[in-house]
Amino acid sequence: MPGTNLKTLLIEDNPLHSRLIQELLAKSDGPEFEVDSAGTLADGLNRLAADGYELLLLDLVLPDSEDLETYLRVRAAYPDLTVVILSGMEDIKLAARAVEAGAQDYLVKSKLDGPLLVRSIRYAVERSRAQHAEWESPMFRLAQQQFLKAAHLMGLDDNIRQRLLFPQRTHVVTFPFRRDEHRYVETVAGYRIQHLLTMGPTKGGVRYHHDVNLGEVTALAMWMTWKCALMDLPFGGAKGGVRIDPTVLSRSELQRLTRRYTSEIIDVIGPQKDIPAPDMGTDENVMAWMMDTYSHQMGHTVPAVVTGKPVVLGGSEGRREATGRGLVYLVEEAARHIGMDLGRATAVVQGFGNVGSSAARFLEACGVRVVGVSDVTTGIYNPDGLSVDSLLRHVDENRVLEGYKGGDAVSNRELLEIPCDVLVPAAIQNQINADNAERISCRILAEGANGPTTLEADEILQEKGVFVLPDVLGNAGGVTVSYFEWVQDTQNYMWTLEEINDRLRQILLNGFQRTIQRSERDGLDIRTAALIEGIHRVTQAKLMRGLFP
Ligand code: GLU
Repeated sequence: MPGTNLKTLLIEDNPLHSRLIQELLAKSDGPEFEVDSAGTLADGLNRLAADGYELLLLDLVLPDSEDLETYLRVRAAYPDLTVVILSGMEDIKLAARAVEAGAQDYLVKSKLDGPLLVRSIRYAVERSRAQHAEWESPMFRLAQQQFLKAAHLMGLDDNIRQRLLFPQRTHVVTFPFRRDEHRYVETVAGYRIQHLLTMGPTKGGVRYHHDVNLGEVTALAMWMTWKCALMDLPFGGAKGGVRIDPTVLSRSELQRLTRRYTSEIIDVIGPQKDIPAPDMGTDENVMAWMMDTYSHQMGHTVPAVVTGKPVVLGGSEGRREATGRGLVYLVEEAARHIGMDLGRATAVVQGFGNVGSSAARFLEACGVRVVGVSDVTTGIYNPDGLSVDSLLRHVDENRVLEGYKGGDAVSNRELLEIPCDVLVPAAIQNQINADNAERISCRILAEGANGPTTLEADEILQEKGVFVLPDVLGNAGGVTVSYFEWVQDTQNYMWTLEEINDRLRQILLNGFQRTIQRSERDGLDIRTAALIEGIHRVTQAKLMRGLFP
């Protein structure tokens, strides 16, 4: 949530209180508050009607409305709005009744200090978003829609269809970790979802992001199942997450958070049970701390409990850049398939984290002119081509792309619509949707992110003749090298980078060929063909194992 604007309405008739609260919110080091204020309920309700507010700070005793009635009138008009009650010492009982009736929280005005106020509000908004989102997440809906479409087209047995629609095991935890100042203990929500236990241990990354919720992690776990099955890896899908913005944490806070999260899910992970790896917001340091925490509890070092570790701890050569490298192996193959000369091609890459920056680097190495890149802060466009090396140096020094001088600044929206041969969404989900699919102008869409394209957009892209390398295929390089890492750890053996890259290419191209054959044979779009490849393997395994008891 930090880094986002929280449109807030404050309804408070005491001008002194109103000013104090606005001053405290202005000092927030979390989300930025865009505050409007009203002195009466009637004025407040008028404002709410006009604008898209996400948060209401509400005094219950106003000139034109008193007590619980004030909250009930707001709730009747705006049932989904997050409301935090501002209460006097003497009205606490009343405030508590408003919370029982549906308000997210109450704050006592005389006890307010800045960080406390901001934190309580942040928690209230997060809780409210999570309550609306949990299973109801757009991402989980997308994962289920894609699965249902594939299941329908392959005539999947309904018993198996029902079994695969929801995860087998869902672990939801809340846990505290200490902030550096030692004044605050943050309580956060964490998840570990295991979608399918049929194929072997479960496998998938851990995501730290301020919007993570049960539905999102579940969608990601389901996609891991199809990805592993498509690649013929002996894993079912899993995913984990913690709802926190990691960019505002110090290194030691990140370490404490990671260790506590690991210990909360320690019973459900393990080299033969479930093997975490990096995902958005986590990296090899986080994996080292997870491995260390797990090993301490076991009494001996267990490198195989996570993948994506530093090489010195039993990580694999080539794992860090495996997703981007794998994506580019597949882009080369897709280009051959449609008769495109990569030496004359241009590319745009959305997202400059691990996946996006590696993809840009490997595309450049293939002779592709990278004309646009972006991260959360900005997009950069230069039709003559950007130097990926100098972009990487800039990010190394400044953490973000903002301020890079070698091109024009564009928004993330504009970036996606730049005409190019290869477009790589490598940021977050739901980037190419019904609103912009018509204006996407590329020949190959190579999905580095998970779930960047909605079902409606898929149809539009298909009509436009775009060759889609779907996420379960396009970004499978990461989990494939994770598999190599796990094998090396369990066998105490090390492979060279050449061996890793050769095997990676072989496995990915094999998955690509099978997908293309199925797509051409059955007249399917490539995403559905890839999903059916995965679902088919899982179905065979389920039928062979039979049903217990
Ligand atoms: N988080 C990555 C993915 O979404 C990698 C998972 C892994 O290596 O287990 O595929």
